[in-house]
Amino acid sequence: YEAYTEGFRGRNVVAAGKVPLGLKKKNLRIVVTGGAGFVGSHLVDRLIARGDSVIVVDNFFTGRKENLMHHFGNPKFELIRHDVVEPILLEVDQIYHLACPASPVHYKFNPVKTIKTNVVGTLNMLGLAKRVGARFLLTSTSEVYGDPLQHPQVETYWGNVNPIGVRSCYDEGKRTAETLTMDYHRSLGIEVRIARIFNTYGPRMCIDDGRVVSNFVAQALRKEPMTVYGDGKQTRSFQYVSDLVEGLIRLMEGDHVGPFNLGNPGEFTMLELAEVVQEAIDPNAKIEFRPNTEDDPHKRKPDISKAKQLLGWEPTISLRKGLPLMVSDFRQRIFGTPKTLIG
Ligand code: NAD
Ligand code: UDP
Ligand code: UDP
Repeated sequence: YEAYTEGFRGRNVVAAGKVPLGLKKKNLRIVVTGGAGFVGSHLVDRLIARGDSVIVVDNFFTGRKENLMHHFGNPKFELIRHDVVEPILLEVDQIYHLACPASPVHYKFNPVKTIKTNVVGTLNMLGLAKRVGARFLLTSTSEVYGDPLQHPQVETYWGNVNPIGVRSCYDEGKRTAETLTMDYHRSLGIEVRIARIFNTYGPRMCIDDGRVVSNFVAQALRKEPMTVYGDGKQTRSFQYVSDLVEGLIRLMEGDHVGPFNLGNPGEFTMLELAEVVQEAIDPNAKIEFRPNTEDDPHKRKPDISKAKQLLGWEPTISLRKGLPLMVSDFRQRIFGTPKTLIG
């Protein structure tokens, strides 16, 4: 108990602002919901490496213990199988709230569960933040801009979202999560941060999660044709995972609520992405056209001026630099052979 009150005294000082950086960084207790997933597990690595105590809360819907196994046995690491739709009592200083499937294939699989996760799950984590006075960071998404009529997307743009479409469980769910976050902040004084994350790729993505980068890479490695949906002229901007993790930590530690776009402004059509994958894996990899999915946004590219100015953050890893790092991981997981033996 003494340890907790001591910790909380420290945290309240942080909450009051104006604390020397050294004190802020001291032995924080941090919960990462969705920490067994792709982004969450990379975030956990960074937090553990800097000496914090981390509790991961995850129901393993799309996450895997394998992503965190290297921390098992570390007394500063704890993994709890728990669904954020149910309340939970924890004593922590910061909450990184990532729990939510991110691939369209996964979030459409059980749309009602997805919206419950976004709404009830976020409500529970905000309730937790309120009870213990923790700082709360929401990982929202570029999907809040829908099929955008403004390009590139600035944080002040309100978006063009279909409220009754097949993607609504995710994009409207995240919009409601943002609303809840701002209402807890305005009416109850909870310290909050909002990140709007743009398409992110890297090692530990689920191999068959249906997202375009993981699909193309796995298909090219297996010598299957890369499936381009629609005419392939739709665009996305792809960010390497370590750039995102850096942005999330800067946002959490900084003084600004947001929302902040966190993404790489390099914009590619899906056909251009297929070319980059060909360069990285197999120049002869084939392309196969498939019908596109409903409500697919035509273009997406972040304006990151706000994050540059207020967080001093911008991505450092281009698609051509980041993709090979992911390819090595996929190669190893698909073939189970060290990449040096393959060439
Ligand atoms: P992911 O699917 O790999 O990870 C999500 C994690 O949340 C998984 O470990 C899953 O098991 C867990 N989870 C899902 N529902 C849960 C629930 N009800 N209770 C507890 N745990 C639950 O996805 P990711 O790419 O790592 O995304 C992490 C976060 O970032 C998500 O909130 C996502 O919406 C957001 N985001 C990601 C991207 C991206 O391109 N990766 C883009 C925009 C936003
Ligand atoms: N909650 C939680 N852990 C906590 C505190 C709250 O899971 O440590 C949940 C709580 O069960 C509720 C939600 O968070 O469903 C919102 O809590 P809050 O106290 O803001 O609202 P209330 O319980 O008054 O409706
Ligand atoms: N896409 C594709 N082939 C695939 C998977 C996706 O051409 O095998 C397209 C999809 O139609 C969309 C873009 O790639 O235009 C990005 O899709 P993803 O599911 O990765 O993420 P989104 O940005 O739609 O959430």
